[in-house]
Amino acid sequence: MLTIFRSQYLNMRGPMETISGREPVIPELESLSRTRLAECYQCGKCTAGCPTAGQMDIPPTRMIRLLQLGDSETALHASSIWQCVSCQTCTTRCPKSVDCAAVMDALRQLAFERGTASPAERRTVLFQQAFLDNIRRHGRLNEIELIAAFKGAVFLRDRSLPFLFRDAGLAPQLQKRRKLHLVGESVKDRGVVARIFARATKGGAQ
Ligand code: SF4
Ligand code: SF4
Repeated sequence: MLTIFRSQYLNMRGPMETISGREPVIPELESLSRTRLAECYQCGKCTAGCPTAGQMDIPPTRMIRLLQLGDSETALHASSIWQCVSCQTCTTRCPKSVDCAAVMDALRQLAFERGTASPAERRTVLFQQAFLDNIRRHGRLNEIELIAAFKGAVFLRDRSLPFLFRDAGLAPQLQKRRKLHLVGESVKDRGVVARIFARATKGGAQ
């Protein structure tokens, strides 16, 4: 869930030294993720612990190797970067302190910015942005506002009327089961939420 948000605050920390002599995407990726790809010695511990590796076209270990070889094009088009659930297991297990989760996160951000993500993958990012913005403003989820923000963002980008109204028929059922709260609530002390976001933006929360 941290995905783009995490990349944003990592990006604010400023560039780090990168491996020179390779295509521009790789240094940018290393800067965003604050990771030296060359540190990886392919032990495989990241993939062994990854809960979604079995579904990935390019699991974490292979992804790092691919990037070491400079093939960012294949990496940016891989479906595995969207199957990663940002659980941080790979990063925690790595004996060489390669932040594999941040690399996946940075790849998602670059795929989104460079237009290599599919429409469905772009919607994932738009949902995450709408979700985090919702939490930032209320401290808890306001479902109606989240749906409106997400659908609105998708519509502005894709101009897809079918997508805009696709789930509208579910609203009565959700409300009947009390899963949809028409009046949103906010936490009492929104300053706490603001401080959490400010800390994350400065890179203090990892
Ligand atoms: S755990 Fe670290 S060193 Fe081992 S393959 Fe993964 S990224 Fe490379
Ligand atoms: S952060 Fe992503 S790549 Fe790493 S272990 Fe979790 S799901 Fe796998």
